[in-house]
Formats: sequence, structure tokens, C-alpha cells
Amino acid sequence: MQKLVQIVYISRSTFEKTDAVNKIEPNVVRILAKSRVNNRKNGLVGVLYFGDGAFFQCLEGEEEAVNALFSKIEKDTRHKDIKLISKKYISKLSFPDWAMKYAPLDDRMRSFLQEHQYQKFDPYAFPPEATQKILSVLIDAYDPTSDIDAQSPSLSAAVHNTYQTQAISGKLMRLSLILSAVACVLAIYAVCIVHGTL
Ligand code: FAD
Repeated sequence: MQKLVQIVYISRSTFEKTDAVNKIEPNVVRILAKSRVNNRKNGLVGVLYFGDGAFFQCLEGEEEAVNALFSKIEKDTRHKDIKLISKKYISKLSFPDWAMKYAPLDDRMRSFLQEHQYQKFDPYAFPPEATQKILSVLIDAYDPTSDIDAQSPSLSAAVHNTYQTQAISGKLMRLSLILSAVACVLAIYAVCIVHGTL
């Protein structure tokens, strides 16, 4: 049997902030859904925190599987400045029931930030000893997405609805620009007719 390992890394998102789906960034919802399916298959567990444009993720499992996933994650263009901040061998999993737990900004995280006088969640500015403290906050956090799964109708409906709404509002915007342009041309034409210049 292989050794169990725990890694923690931080990164910055590269995507534009979009409207939240049930208070969660849609890109994060998609990452979570994919992670839950893949990690369950590969015997991996962990937790993901996303706040102020920064990711903080802990992954646990057999060393080879964790390393293979981390190599994939490093190539993912949805984030950058990926920095491994902790790697250690463990005797048991900290998140045995979580293929990928999602921890939101809750009261305990707010207290952690206030206690250290941080204005926002910027893990690059945290001292190394903060890593385990953040992890214990995340282990205790309530996951509002525990019912989210790639197969979950509520997830696909939520993500689908967001993209539908964005697509429809984009189309309406283009239509209103075309109608404004046509109205301008007609107005100029009418003025020219009135003044007899046509
Ligand atoms: P597919 O889903 O088929 O993806 C194929 C390729 O497309 C991959 O290279 C993938 O990176 C890329 N891709 C897919 N969707 C997008 C997109 N919307 N934008 C840009 N590129 C995309 N995966 C896990 O399995 N477990 C995790 O715990 C996990 N945590 C992650 C945490 C963060 C912060 C991020 C950004 C990603 C995480 N991922 C995780 C996703 C991971 O990087 C890979 O995208 C995923 O594992 C690929 O799954 P797949 O092999 O089934 O390929």
C-alpha cells in the first residue's frame, strides 16, 4: 500500500468575476462538480476554499494519485501563480467523507482574517503557520454545496440558467444597438426630407 499524503496549494483565479449561482462563482461550481466525480473515482479527498479571487485547496490520498492530479491542476488555465505551500505524509485522511468539500467565507474565516488584521483573503501574505489554522477552519466549515454533484439536476440547472441568462442578455444588447442605429438613420433621413435636401 502506498503512503498517504496531504498537499496544500494556493493560486489566483484567471476568470472574470461572474454572477454567483446560489452565492457561488459558476466557475467554482463547475470545478467542484468535476472534482467530486474524479476524486471519488481516484480515492482522493480534500477541501477547496475560494475567496477574493484566491484558491486555497487541500488534497489528500495516495501519493501517486495526488501527484498525478496536482500535475493536471498546475496546467489548468482557470488559475495562475500556483504555489505548493505544504506537503506532508499523514496516517489518516482529514476529510474522509469529502471527495471535495467546499468551504465558503463564514464567521470563523472572518474571525481568522480579523484576528490577523487581514483586509481580504490573500494566502500569499499569510505566514506558513497560518496554513494549519486555515485548514482547521475549513475542516469545521459548513459546506452549502454538499448536495452538488455533476449529476445533480440543481447544479446543472443553476449553471445552465446562468449561461442562458448571460446569452439572452447579450443577444438583447446587440438587438437594441441595431435598433438604435436604424432609428438614427431613419431620423437623419426624415430631417433631410423635411429640409428638402434629399
Ligand atoms: P476534462 O474535464 O475532460 O478536461 C480536459 C482538459 O480541459 C483539462 O486539461 C482541463 O484542465 C481543461 N478544462 C476543462 N474545463 C475547462 C474550463 N472550463 N476552462 C479551462 N480549461 C478547462 N480536478 C479534479 O479532478 N479534482 C480536483 O480536486 C480539482 N481541483 C481543482 C482546483 C482548482 C482551483 C482548479 C482550477 C481545477 C481543479 N480541478 C480538479 C480541475 C483540474 O485542473 C482538471 O481540469 C480536471 O481534473 C480535468 O478533468 P478530466 O481529466 O476529467 O478532463
